[in-house]
Amino acid sequence: MSDVSFLKETSRTAGRDALRKNINAAIALSSAVRSTLGPSGQDKLLLDDQGRTMVTNDGVTILESARVEHPIAKMLIQTSSTQDYIARDGTTSAVLLTAELLQNAWRLIEQDIHPSVVIRGYASALKHCQTELVGLAFDITKELMEKATITSLAGKTHKAVQHHIAHQALLASTAVKESQAGEVKCDPTRVKVITQTGGKMTDSEVVNGLVLPKKPLSPKLAKKVQNGAIALIDGGIEHESHGLDMKIQVDNIGVFEQFRKHDLQQLHEKVDALIALGINVIACREGIDDALHSRFVDAGIHAYRRVARSDLDVLARATGARLVHQVEDLTASDLGQFSQSSSVQEGGVTHWILETSGGAATFVARGSTDDVVAEVERCFADALGVACQLVEEPSLVAGGGATHVALARSLRRYAETFSGREQLAIDAYADALEVIPRILAENAGLDPLDILLQVVAHQIEKEHGEVYAFDIEGKTLANMKEAGIVEPLRITRQAIAGSTQAAISVLRIDDILWAKQEAVIPEGILDED
Ligand code: ADP
Ligand code: MG
Repeated sequence: MSDVSFLKETSRTAGRDALRKNINAAIALSSAVRSTLGPSGQDKLLLDDQGRTMVTNDGVTILESARVEHPIAKMLIQTSSTQDYIARDGTTSAVLLTAELLQNAWRLIEQDIHPSVVIRGYASALKHCQTELVGLAFDITKELMEKATITSLAGKTHKAVQHHIAHQALLASTAVKESQAGEVKCDPTRVKVITQTGGKMTDSEVVNGLVLPKKPLSPKLAKKVQNGAIALIDGGIEHESHGLDMKIQVDNIGVFEQFRKHDLQQLHEKVDALIALGINVIACREGIDDALHSRFVDAGIHAYRRVARSDLDVLARATGARLVHQVEDLTASDLGQFSQSSSVQEGGVTHWILETSGGAATFVARGSTDDVVAEVERCFADALGVACQLVEEPSLVAGGGATHVALARSLRRYAETFSGREQLAIDAYADALEVIPRILAENAGLDPLDILLQVVAHQIEKEHGEVYAFDIEGKTLANMKEAGIVEPLRITRQAIAGSTQAAISVLRIDDILWAKQEAVIPEGILDED
């Protein structure tokens, strides 16, 4: 043991013992989200330090909110966050797969198979899955796109709300879809989300363009302008503050007045320049001098000040305007276009709604309480993530674990082409993939083994059997494609790749230093019935 003081509370664990502890940590963590998987997944009640609560069954939300110190548990949470970042969904599946891969690896290691052999087998299995997935994927149709978006909300909120949010997510994804160097891009961060407590969840809606809780400089103008031009200034139209290090000796009040008059004259000239450009709306990041109100009103220009830079960026994308630093730099080619700009009072707050033909969208999340609104927000983020994925890569696979079972079957045949112990590792990988259909069944109160055997039998029996699995909501074995239980290929691919990489990293660690602590299920996570 070292005499370095911070190492006193740590111990060095080597080899198998370290691995066993790490695998236990992964299993403990995965058990915290296991019961949330799928349409029958239970919600969790999260408690924070202040006693605030949140009810959710979103895997990544649960894990990210857990106060976990264990290095391997942290790594697993990172896998889930990466899955969320790259694929926006499949976070619970990724964690469950990692834990199962590790558990199966441990079984082999206990039989004296070296971790490096398991690692090699897992890497070969992943490669095989990636090739096989291409053959299992199918092209999207408009109807399937909607179904996939709804599938991402399985187990979250009510059916009617799922349909509504999925529909809104599809509208938003269409609004932000664009072509970049021949590639279709759909960036969900282009959709701004604002929340409004009050109203029904199904009142939540997408507006093409931007909605901001902002009042116009003057409420006197008409509440609506149609088909107009907008200027965006990354600065203000106000008195320039003369440098702090500048001292002016004012002997005579008239001098001060003259300064002010001169400044005002310059500001008026700026407004005149804006009027000459024929704009209808202007938005500035900084202030607009109060003395300019009437001039803007007379010209019928709606002015908005102190608009956040990030909102100006969204406005620029939505309207095609170019941000300039000062009015003097503005030319006609910098202006953007909008179809309608209006001011609406809702729940005591004035909102500026700028509608455009595309480029940006705003989702207004509504619900009866703050918690409900937050859940609507999270559901929308999932649905939008899936919708955007599908715009960028329009390929689907069958859900409900059908694809995992099909991959496992193919892997077992592939394993036969290997001799020796690597074959066992590939078989262990195949077994791990089946954790998805097994837990989906378990969470629905069904016998996991029974269901798995039925699914495998169906897949063997039917033509194109690889799309068969158990529909938890329909309570029957079904063709997942026909039942509309489908998911983006990218999500399944990423969950499998991310979890394999995480499992391999854990298997590679054979000597670690860590603080004294045991693997436990994170505090503050309770099952909710
Ligand atoms: P994740 O965080 O991994 O996305 P979810 O709780 O969202 O976890 O569950 C997703 C899983 O539920 C997917 O495997 C999906 O195919 C499956 N699923 C969704 N609806 C059904 C259904 N009706 N029957 C069976 N499985 C379903
Ligand atoms: Mg999901």
